[in-house]
Amino acid sequence: MTTIKASCPSCGEVELTPADVSLVVCSHAPLSYYSFACPGCTEQVRKPADDHVVSLLVSGGVPATVWEVPAEALEPRTGPVLTYDDLLDLAIQLAETDLLAPVAAGRVAS
Ligand SMILES: [Zn+2]
Repeated sequence: MTTIKASCPSCGEVELTPADVSLVVCSHAPLSYYSFACPGCTEQVRKPADDHVVSLLVSGGVPATVWEVPAEALEPRTGPVLTYDDLLDLAIQLAETDLLAPVAAGRVAS
C-alpha cells in the first residue's frame, strides 16, 4: 500500500494512506488543495496543492475531486471595501422594505 508522508502543524511528519487524503483540484490552480485528518491529533489539516503535489498524490492513488471556481469569484474588484456598517445598513433596509431593489436604485424613498 502506498504511504503518503505529510506534515501536521502540531505533530510534524505523519504517514497517511491514499484513503486518508482528500484532493481538490481547482480550475484556478492556486486554489487547489489537499486535506487530511491528522492521525496524531485529529486536527483537520489543509494545504495548497501545486501541480507537482497534485501529480504526486494522484500517482499515489488519491482520487482528485475537480472544483470549478465561478468566474465571478475571480473578477477584479474596484470601489470601496464593504464595511460592517454597510452590512448593518443593508440588514436594516431588508427589515424595513419588501422592495429593496427600487430603494437601492434610488427610485423610491424608503
Ligand atoms: Zn497533528
